[in-house]
Amino acid sequence: MSTTERLKIDLHSHTTFSDGHLSVIELIDRAHNMQLDVLAITDHDTLAGLAPAHAYQAKQRRKLHIVDGIEISTRWHSFEIHVVGLKLDIENKLFQKRLLQQQARRDERAERIAAKLAKAGFADCLADAKQLAGEGQVTRAHFARVLVQRGVVDHMQKAFDKYLGKGKRAYVTANWIDLATAVEWIQQAGGQAVLAHPYQYDMTMKWLRRLLTDFKAANGDAIEVIHGSNLDAQRRKMLATLCREYGFKASVGSDFHLPGRWTELGKNLSLPDELVPIWQDWTMTEETV
Ligand code: MN
Ligand code: MN
Ligand code: MN
Repeated sequence: MSTTERLKIDLHSHTTFSDGHLSVIELIDRAHNMQLDVLAITDHDTLAGLAPAHAYQAKQRRKLHIVDGIEISTRWHSFEIHVVGLKLDIENKLFQKRLLQQQARRDERAERIAAKLAKAGFADCLADAKQLAGEGQVTRAHFARVLVQRGVVDHMQKAFDKYLGKGKRAYVTANWIDLATAVEWIQQAGGQAVLAHPYQYDMTMKWLRRLLTDFKAANGDAIEVIHGSNLDAQRRKMLATLCREYGFKASVGSDFHLPGRWTELGKNLSLPDELVPIWQDWTMTEETV
């Protein structure tokens, strides 16, 4: 692809290998139907979906280019900050080993969440969450689905608002790696590090600026200026301004988890012209058999 100008690009999505509701194949088929040119699969703390994605693509002979990605949870002050890694070498042994540590932390968090839910009167949530997660990572979204299935709450957001969200009864401060370490892991695996959804951390502008300063100091590459859940033009403009001010490249992603009213692959993701896209120097070739 010689020009990236007209490409439909989405650099943040999930499959059933973490908290997405679509399998790798369903996600890729949907991306194809939505006429995407480029899709990054960025499951939480795992690369497990990427080999199956390439195997499937090799059979399809479609123009859709799959970017090898991940979304790593980190701890920064009292916040859980997400860092998306793009264009990773998924064969990198050191990175794979490091991810096992992170997955162990995730499992430990799941046990602690389940213990807190048990105290709140909901026994055995871990087994149910694990069943929902199947071969994928257990996330808070799985616990939220368990609470919906049991009729404790009527939709997932309520499960977060009442139990699983920050400061709520079953919230656990997870022992994630720190922000700079996530950037280092990603870059040492040949990837680029993107600060995910900067508007979703419920922080003041002062804290957001501290976060951007620290992410810059950690050698972060880009920030997600355009995010599926942030349709507010003023906020997007503010993030674009901050992106330029701090000298980051810009990324775009729907953060697709499931088909819904607000999120769709590749929808409303165009980047303001004045920003440097993170894909500026990428060579994107069609999948070959
Ligand atoms: Mn998620
Ligand atoms: Mn996230
Ligand atoms: Mn995500």
